[in-house]
Amino acid sequence: MTPHVPDTFRALRVTKDDQGQPRAGFQTLSTAELPEGEVTVQVTHSSLNFKDGMAVAGRPGILKRLPMTPGIDLAGTVLHDESGTYAPGDGVLLTGWGLGERHDGGYATLARVPARWLTRLPGGTDARWAMSVGTAGFTAMLAVMALEDHAVSREHEVLVTGAAGGVGSTAVALLAQAGFNVTASTGRPQEADFLRSLGARQVIGREELPALKRPLESERWAGVVDTVGGEALAGAYASTRTHGSLAVCGLAASPKLDTTVYPLILRGVNLLGIDSVNCPVPRRDAAWARLARDLPAAALEGVTRVRGLSEVPVLALEILAGRVRGRTVIDVN
Ligand code: NDP
Repeated sequence: MTPHVPDTFRALRVTKDDQGQPRAGFQTLSTAELPEGEVTVQVTHSSLNFKDGMAVAGRPGILKRLPMTPGIDLAGTVLHDESGTYAPGDGVLLTGWGLGERHDGGYATLARVPARWLTRLPGGTDARWAMSVGTAGFTAMLAVMALEDHAVSREHEVLVTGAAGGVGSTAVALLAQAGFNVTASTGRPQEADFLRSLGARQVIGREELPALKRPLESERWAGVVDTVGGEALAGAYASTRTHGSLAVCGLAASPKLDTTVYPLILRGVNLLGIDSVNCPVPRRDAAWARLARDLPAAALEGVTRVRGLSEVPVLALEILAGRVRGRTVIDVN
């Protein structure tokens, strides 16, 4: 039976209040209010990322116009596709491409998107799995692939900063699974057992990361997955071993990077940028296929919690306060 496109749907919308300030609230919208795109998707699951926290809390810079439905990730079932790429009932996922920033996103029961933005759910997976990975896990996979492309050694330590967060915890699990010697850095010592259970061989406190005193510190890290930026990244970069690589993912601490070119030109260190939003389709497909292989649902069980759409406004504040551990799947219905 062909799935039916409903006339209305429920969404968490960020609108301007009387003072012109952004404010999140639930609305029932007409299907005619969906944005342009060939594919209408019945969204079943979304997820919570740091960026979503900023968007829902009304922080500037994420939502490019208002009103807007946030949610940078979605997964669900195709209801209708004008491009003919997908059949009704196909399972799909979407991360990035400006979803939940400049195009209505995953915090709604319906979405309409361009067909080329969608990825088929890998065989043997489902929408909940896809969202327990989400942008955070996808970014972690891109970071691990970047380190592997640059032949990072499995002999010496690979550092993950912000390790108890969404990107960090998935990076720890993926690196351990790929045989790397993982050192997890966290500001939450109570998460040490959790990080060891994901495969970290060493867990260090955030304050144990040596601050940058000289342009070149003694060599320690074969590779780095950095989610925090600022001083931690500057210090890790100066302590990266000759021909080692850093996959730079985030700015949870700071967008600043105050450093020198010495590690680049004297040690051949590679500073690699990770961008999950506009990642090209072939790389995207390769990353999702690898995630399905290396990170099955059972491996994500302990890292994932499921919450309802109505809880998102509160969860947004929690992730901004650094109180969220691992991944949060949002059950949209
Ligand atoms: P989370 O909030 O889940 O994780 C961030 C972690 O960073 C926290 O759990 C905490 O880890 C650490 N942290 C938070 N505040 C500070 C601070 N002031 N100083 C040092 N460490 C801090 O967020 P995500 O994992 O979803 O995202 C992490 C970063 O990556 C964000 O900046 C996000 O914008 C970025 N990102 C980038 C993407 C890309 O395409 N490049 C895609 C996805 C995310 P702990 O408690 O272990 O110390």
